[in-house]
Amino acid sequence: MSASPSQPRSTRPSEGLTVLPLASPTLPPATTTNTTFVGRRDVWVVDPAPPWEAPREALLAEVRTLAHTGRAARGIVLTHHHPDHVGAAAWLREQTGLPILAHPVTATLLRGRPTVDRLLEEGDVLVGSDADDDRWQVLHTPGHAPGHLCLWEPVRRLLVAGDMVAATGTIVIAPPDGHMATYLAQLERLAALGPARLVPAHGAVVEAPVERLRFYVRHRLEREGRVSGALEAEPLALMALTERSYPDVPRALHGLASGSALAHLIKLEEEGRARRLDDGRWVSA
Ligand SMILES: [Zn+2]
Repeated sequence: MSASPSQPRSTRPSEGLTVLPLASPTLPPATTTNTTFVGRRDVWVVDPAPPWEAPREALLAEVRTLAHTGRAARGIVLTHHHPDHVGAAAWLREQTGLPILAHPVTATLLRGRPTVDRLLEEGDVLVGSDADDDRWQVLHTPGHAPGHLCLWEPVRRLLVAGDMVAATGTIVIAPPDGHMATYLAQLERLAALGPARLVPAHGAVVEAPVERLRFYVRHRLEREGRVSGALEAEPLALMALTERSYPDVPRALHGLASGSALAHLIKLEEEGRARRLDDGRWVSA
């Protein structure tokens, strides 16, 4: 019998690192969000997402199974506030009594749904065990979402990357959550760490993350080139600009793409390379 969404298969890319893809209301073509279990003895449950009963039961079973190997969950970590990352957090806290941890900005944006019990900031460390290679540094990596966090284990060079990179689907960078210049700077920062393996929130573990991170930067800058090129021809409203800059994207997705186009325009405006006219159209500066 093949695996159905209610029988998810976990993978273990490294010792004390388990990735469990669970059905979630995410952006197609992705259909799942990875709940990642970090730590050899004390386990941090990252991004429990499903709002539905069957995948939630699979999640709870995984948490309860930890005890069979002398391990125990210590907390629920949210990489950011988007609904396809937090959908089971309050439920899992209710079932287990585990605290919910997130960046202060994420706590604010969640507006109590769920409430955050402990704040995490850049420089904090989540300890998995006494081993040197089981101390997970908290990195604040805004750009996709302003309170976005990654977890970084520098000895094995493992990166739990949330929505900074997707192995399935694309990462939306759109205002008000998204900020393109910040996102690109954080991708560069993550690439400079030299991760050996990267666990994205959507899709399979990335085995050549530095190349992938650099590809993401290149790809965004190529798109920025199209946006600024289109503006050089004539002043354009956002949707007209989206049509010209995203010819490879199906029309039905242009509403979504216009958010990314706006993020590029804001970056160009910040760099003094574009400006918005009183009538709302954009021009080269
Ligand atoms: Zn997201």
